Amino acid sequence: MPSNNDALTDNVDPKEIEKFSAMAEQWWDLEGDFKPLHMLNPTRLEYIEQGVDGLFAKSIVDVGCGGGILAESMAKQGAQVTGIDMAHASLQIARLHALETQTELDYQKITAEEFAAQHAGQFDVVTCMEMLEHVPDPASIIKACCDMVKPGGFVYFSTINKTFKAYLMMILGAEHLLKWVPKGTHEYEKFIRPSQLLAAIDKTTLKCEDLCGVEFNAFAGEFSITDNVNVNYMLRCQKLA
Ligand code: SAH
Repeated sequence: MPSNNDALTDNVDPKEIEKFSAMAEQWWDLEGDFKPLHMLNPTRLEYIEQGVDGLFAKSIVDVGCGGGILAESMAKQGAQVTGIDMAHASLQIARLHALETQTELDYQKITAEEFAAQHAGQFDVVTCMEMLEHVPDPASIIKACCDMVKPGGFVYFSTINKTFKAYLMMILGAEHLLKWVPKGTHEYEKFIRPSQLLAAIDKTTLKCEDLCGVEFNAFAGEFSITDNVNVNYMLRCQKLA
């Protein structure tokens, strides 16, 4: 995986942050730009919950939390969740929504790397979903996630594979034909092959325990877990004790 972060002080692409800030009002609109994430959420929540033997009382940090779709759902299961993101507008929406739903969780505007430096080895679980394909140096985020979690704790990643099918589904289909998400939401160049993600994970003390695909079933109108990692995929890692 390229490490092209040398020229940047932060591993943050300001264009990406502007893009998500401009969409922030839509985070909790079930029919809006983030509809696919709302549809995906029950499937990924269950995957996370099963892999860590329940979320109750677990300390979790959700890296690149956006408007809090996943973060809030984990807090509702009794986890103590901190959501971090660099888009102020998204965090404001996330905080308002948590107030409305009376869910207790903490949101902070901070980079993954800085948060990791402040909270080394403190969390039971780290989640970093649909975020790596939006940063200049994904390997640096992976390392930061590893640094945040306790020895023996779990880290979850999800992202988009760099395949022709992913280009067809995520860019041509979702952005241009179906107009599910705004044009420019994803860039093919930033999609990440599982082998690249695993190579970056191998450079840390994380060990990948499970890798699975996530597939949209147009008839059922829902996502489900599959062996096929052609487009969207997720994985669970454990930090070596
Ligand atoms: N994880 C959430 C949101 C995914 S959208 C979910 O799956 O529901 C990608 C998110 O990553 C956006 O909220 C964007 O603001 C955030 N992001 C992009 N670059 C970031 C960075 N360098 N640091 C923190 N967050 C970042």
